[in-house]
Amino acid sequence: MAEEQTKACCQRTIERMLRVIRESYVSFPVIKDVPCEECKEILAIRVYAKPE
Ligand SMILES: [Zn+2]
Repeated sequence: MAEEQTKACCQRTIERMLRVIRESYVSFPVIKDVPCEECKEILAIRVYAKPE
């Protein structure tokens, strides 16, 4: 049982960012630090290659 510390609100923000990156970014890697939309915690977005 792996304990994942990412809060649900942060997970939603990460998933939304990944969707935006997948749909609109053409240059990789994408390295961003974005605040969670709800709790404002800084989230590290790291996408090293274009996702499937
Ligand atoms: Zn959050």
